[in-house]
Amino acid sequence: MAAGESPSHEKGQPGIVQAALSGLCPRCGEPTLFEAPARVALNCQSCQLDFTGLERGARLAGLVTIVTAAVLIGLSIGADMAFQPPFWLQVLFWGPVTIAAVIGVLRLYKTALLYAAYDAQTGDNKK
Ligand SMILES: [Zn+2]
Repeated sequence: MAAGESPSHEKGQPGIVQAALSGLCPRCGEPTLFEAPARVALNCQSCQLDFTGLERGARLAGLVTIVTAAVLIGLSIGADMAFQPPFWLQVLFWGPVTIAAVIGVLRLYKTALLYAAYDAQTGDNKK
């Protein structure tokens, strides 16, 4: 196999979206990746894989959060102009939506980064 960029989905590994939603460890596939909804655990409680060394792009998580929030603000302004809902309804709707979207995007972002770092670190040791 000519190795350049290795795809992040090897055989036996779940897709990134599935992994992000379930918080699956890139090595053992156990749902141990997140210790809180959008916080990566220090290591895998099942196989002891160290996640801290893999989470390199975490500095950008703040930026990802801001971009997500900006998109949501744009959407809420659009919805406001289109439907003119009462303020309490907007708060009721956009509060949970914002939290869910930010957590979802952060999980996806961190999982994708971590899996990419894991692939880079392990190289092609399973030929
Ligand atoms: Zn593991």
